[in-house]
Amino acid sequence: MQVTRTIKEMKSARRGMRGSVGFVPTMGYLHEGHLVLVRNSNRDNKFTIVSIFVNPTQFGPKEDFAKYPRDPDRDSAMLEKEGVDVVFMPPPEEMYPPGFNTWVDLEGVTERLEGAVRPGHFRGVATVCNKLFNIVEARKAYFGQKDAQQVVVIKKMVKDLNMNLEVVVVPTVREPDGLAMSSRNVYLNPEQRRAAVVLWQSLFLARNLWSKGERDAGAIRSAMRQLIEKEPLAGPIDYISIADAETLAELTTLDRSAVISLAVRFGPTRLIDNITLP
Ligand code: AMP
Repeated sequence: MQVTRTIKEMKSARRGMRGSVGFVPTMGYLHEGHLVLVRNSNRDNKFTIVSIFVNPTQFGPKEDFAKYPRDPDRDSAMLEKEGVDVVFMPPPEEMYPPGFNTWVDLEGVTERLEGAVRPGHFRGVATVCNKLFNIVEARKAYFGQKDAQQVVVIKKMVKDLNMNLEVVVVPTVREPDGLAMSSRNVYLNPEQRRAAVVLWQSLFLARNLWSKGERDAGAIRSAMRQLIEKEPLAGPIDYISIADAETLAELTTLDRSAVISLAVRFGPTRLIDNITLP
């Protein structure tokens, strides 16, 4: 496995690849969720490139950029074991040199949910993904359903900008109790970790209500809210959303493909999760 840190090195490694290339962008501090993306890429492609870059431009000024967990040595060892071909881990100044001035701004879908609570977040995500896509020139890129809105945003960017890339979406990998795996789960103390399962429980409840024929989105949102509010360590709730799977516009009636998503704080830690229906 080759570890590259400059764009020049990465591009040179890419030029040596003859055959299909899959790309897995990450912010590192890898867990099983990331590795499932890697395994999907390994299965579908001759070569797999993984990037590890905690992208400063997608963090707000009051967010956790500085303390976001990092362990590049452990990450490299995990990726080596998976048979990854090239890891790209650039320092921030390699991606954003002085004078960097070009941004990818998607309208509409980025203004809701995560975008409403984290202004500028998707501008950073879309810009860095665009740069990474240009650097690695993969045929397929792998993203987790865990970040449902990110998937919608990246697919829209790829379509709107006619990028030569297939976006492959991989189902969310969960802990045995249902909590979605996330690098941010390490921020939780043991009590918060136990309490955080309420996210999954509320999504499970939503799916059950839907299976029994409930189609009133408002009724499902309130049932989820009531369940979460019973957990003293959960909250405030940033949002509970039942939205059109493509536009992420809120639904009043569940009469089409939908994403049920939520963001809840546990102390200083903000967790997100979602399911898709049907
Ligand atoms: P991150 O390092 O958090 O930016 O995540 C990198 C990629 O891994 C994104 O496409 C995430 O959606 C995906 N990912 C993170 N957690 C999970 C998970 N539990 N299951 C599946 N994919 C995940």
